[in-house]
Amino acid sequence: MSAPEQLRVPILAYHASNITGNVYQLNDHIAFENDLYTLHHAGYQIVPLLWIAQWLHGERDLSALGNRIIGLSCDDGLDLDYKNGRYFDFGPQRSFYHILKDFVADVGQINQPHAHLTSFVIACPEARKKIDDVSLNSHQLLNHDWWQSAANDDLMAIENHGWDHRHPDIYPTEHANFISVEDEDTATKQVIQAKNLIERHILPHKTTQFAYPWGHTNEFLLNEFMPKQAQQAGITAAYTCGAEHVTVDCNPYSIPRYVCGFNWKSPKQLLALIG
Ligand SMILES: [Zn+2]
Repeated sequence: MSAPEQLRVPILAYHASNITGNVYQLNDHIAFENDLYTLHHAGYQIVPLLWIAQWLHGERDLSALGNRIIGLSCDDGLDLDYKNGRYFDFGPQRSFYHILKDFVADVGQINQPHAHLTSFVIACPEARKKIDDVSLNSHQLLNHDWWQSAANDDLMAIENHGWDHRHPDIYPTEHANFISVEDEDTATKQVIQAKNLIERHILPHKTTQFAYPWGHTNEFLLNEFMPKQAQQAGITAAYTCGAEHVTVDCNPYSIPRYVCGFNWKSPKQLLALIG
């Protein structure tokens, strides 16, 4: 008998603000909808990111689901993750949530029983307002009024993308990254205070997952802060943009993801990437 093939799980990341047109290559919403059907027809089962984290911790067996499993996430927490709305001059856009909901209804819930999307949001309301004012033309696209309903829905989870994303609209260039988060006070604010603030909006749900802004991490975060202070605060997993499949020996605080528009630009490229 040959050994069972080792499970390799891709995780995809989308950005609701990636809209410069209304075709696949220029619009993550259109790409997301296409990709759902591409993945489904290729035999993939969508599962929550939390399940993948639990698998890495030895707390969940995924083997009953076969060897085509995939996780879906979106970063930055635009309202367009959850609510349909307009985006600049590109007209009405369907939210990732509504696209996923319609997809499940179309293919049948029994055929994608675990379909799920994890939305990583920015905690601080003042930071979100500043980013909206500077980068989103004050269109008020970074609200938290939908977090509770999204967290209550079986199709979505609200998770943590940091206090303020260390965003260039707020920080000078040399600090506008997550690589320079190298001391305990800064990391506590960005990771643990962010978790606590987000949780106030989604009670009684907790956030246990963290997506590093820009996908950036460093030795201090990986070897010190995340497995100690963050773990004690209840954070069990953290995600990068490492562009690899997740395997069972993966560090749960350095879980790689593939980014739409960067790692693939067409359904064909997606299948080649994850196959
Ligand atoms: Zn981000």
